[in-house]
Amino acid sequence: MIDQRTDFHALFGLPSQGVSALCTTRWLRPKMQRVSLQANQDFNLAVHASDDPQRVLINRALLLQQFDLPAEPLWLDQVHGTQIHRVVESKSSSSPPVADGATTRLQNQVLAVLTADCLPLILATKDGAQVAVVHVGWRGLASGIIGVAVDCFNGAPLVAWIGPGIGPCHFEVGPELKEKFPSDLFAAGRPPDRVLLDLPQAAQRDLASAGVSEIKMSGVCTVCSVNDFYSYRQEGVTGRFATLVWRESR
Ligand SMILES: [Zn+2]
Repeated sequence: MIDQRTDFHALFGLPSQGVSALCTTRWLRPKMQRVSLQANQDFNLAVHASDDPQRVLINRALLLQQFDLPAEPLWLDQVHGTQIHRVVESKSSSSPPVADGATTRLQNQVLAVLTADCLPLILATKDGAQVAVVHVGWRGLASGIIGVAVDCFNGAPLVAWIGPGIGPCHFEVGPELKEKFPSDLFAAGRPPDRVLLDLPQAAQRDLASAGVSEIKMSGVCTVCSVNDFYSYRQEGVTGRFATLVWRESR
């Protein structure tokens, strides 16, 4: 199950010591228990997503409790840029850092990104000494955010997980994006000039060219799996699910 707290190795099949990670769904509880939930009782974790802020705060508290997180996650103000926030000391700040990723070597410092079609990306050193989580949309990707994120690790061997996001089956874009990505990442879309972009593949390539060899893809398309994940493309006004990573204390 993807929305259970577990260690990075067990969830993603990747070797990284002492690293925990999780990816929420649009439901706090597993599918079997959600039948009684009303549509407005789902598990949106974003305050910017046209939701009641009080309910989002309740959901965030439930996240902490349900998954026994060691601390409140560091939420970011994501802007489709390339800034990676480095967390060097644990302190609570009143406003979230403006960044599209975060990295730390601190233990029990929970990092988070919120997505609904963009790709969540987790990076960790193989020895588990440093972790990062990154919000990867086409803009960030085209601006080189993956290279920026990998550079934060100073050449240490890394493992990576690319989470649920819009897949090549559904990411129809205009021809203006053609100059931003290699041509073989596109397939024909609907006429007259729409094309389908393979965002996960683009991310995987950038990771590989930055020297990351162990890459696991979730293979989940948020539009195809909109019953489990939020999809901005599919739903317009919708929530965001969270991808979290942290180093366990030993
Ligand atoms: Zn799809």
